[in-house]
Amino acid sequence: MPGDFHVHTQYCQHGADDKMEAYVLQAIEKGLTHLSFTEHAPLPESFTDPAPHRDSTMDRNMVEAYIMEGKTLQKMYKNDLQINIGFEVDYIRGYEQETQTFLDTYGPEMDDGILSVHMLQAPDKSFFCIDYSEEEFGRAADAFCGLTSLYKAYYDNVQASVEADIGHFKPKRIGHITLIQKFQLAYQKPADFSKERQNILELIKKNGYELDVNTAGLYKPLCKEIYPPVELIESAVQLGIPLVPGSDSHAASGIGKGFKELSAYTLQFPKRINM
Ligand SMILES: [Zn+2]
Ligand SMILES: [Zn+2]
Repeated sequence: MPGDFHVHTQYCQHGADDKMEAYVLQAIEKGLTHLSFTEHAPLPESFTDPAPHRDSTMDRNMVEAYIMEGKTLQKMYKNDLQINIGFEVDYIRGYEQETQTFLDTYGPEMDDGILSVHMLQAPDKSFFCIDYSEEEFGRAADAFCGLTSLYKAYYDNVQASVEADIGHFKPKRIGHITLIQKFQLAYQKPADFSKERQNILELIKKNGYELDVNTAGLYKPLCKEIYPPVELIESAVQLGIPLVPGSDSHAASGIGKGFKELSAYTLQFPKRINM
């Protein structure tokens, strides 16, 4: 196992209060050699967090503190663990310019990064954070007039994230590309999106990006599968897309969780972002 490359910290407003060092110690204890901190980058300033508690990301004023703390740990533990500092950056359609401004500012400090879709805009222009809760997901489905168009909007946005021009420091890894299935067991399966999903994988390949193979979904009671599920991982392997493992831990105890489910695959280290 090369490492855990999708990890949150105490700077996330919806996770545990475990300090970054606790994640580092846990990674060392689990025998990992590499760890990427990928805290949720602040949302664009002109964007209002649609999550009911407005807690989707880190506080904008804490970015420097997060980077500093990461760099200190990088030095302290350099003989035991290679620590990468980065962000999970939201791709929000229509906010590309502000997203690029963030990346242009902090990209030079980033070793690693993930680009993810969590926010979708409904036909009535309101935004939803689709992975916040089952209730919010239900509200989103209503606003989109049904699950099929909600799923379609999600895959459209993931495709747009892969194709987006957000500058030199655009993350090379696409986050949990089936997050829309987080509450799948509570709903009837909507239309078949295999064509859209295959298309996304082909675009990831064409752009030389990586896939976030994210075990968090296994432990979501209404999901119970990896993001993306096994058949999509197999397609990614066929295409030669690098698979980069991540637990998406929001608590130190989650480091490396579920990685034994990935033992059949050849996993890769992420490409460096600040080159
Ligand atoms: Zn999170
Ligand atoms: Zn995410």
